[in-house]
Amino acid sequence: MEMEYNCPLCNGLITISERCPECGSLMEDWGRVQDYLDPYQPYLDISITASEERRDEKKCVHLYLCPRCGRDTRITVNQILGP
Ligand SMILES: [Zn+2]
Ligand SMILES: [Zn+2]
Repeated sequence: MEMEYNCPLCNGLITISERCPECGSLMEDWGRVQDYLDPYQPYLDISITASEERRDEKKCVHLYLCPRCGRDTRITVNQILGP
């Protein structure tokens, strides 16, 4: 059986508390950046370009948004081997 890499953040194993560099508010995890690269979800006007990170399957890139000032940032999570 083949082991797969799983993102601990997607699976709720860890939480990441990221502070907004602009206003210091706690930023919210909006999930994987990959989900927003889907052409059928064009509602978010965030400048995300396809990067090398996206092709690296051992990393999961999460989008964090500040609920107060709307600033966005990306957090790269190293995936872990799971069953
Ligand atoms: Zn993830
Ligand atoms: Zn902010």
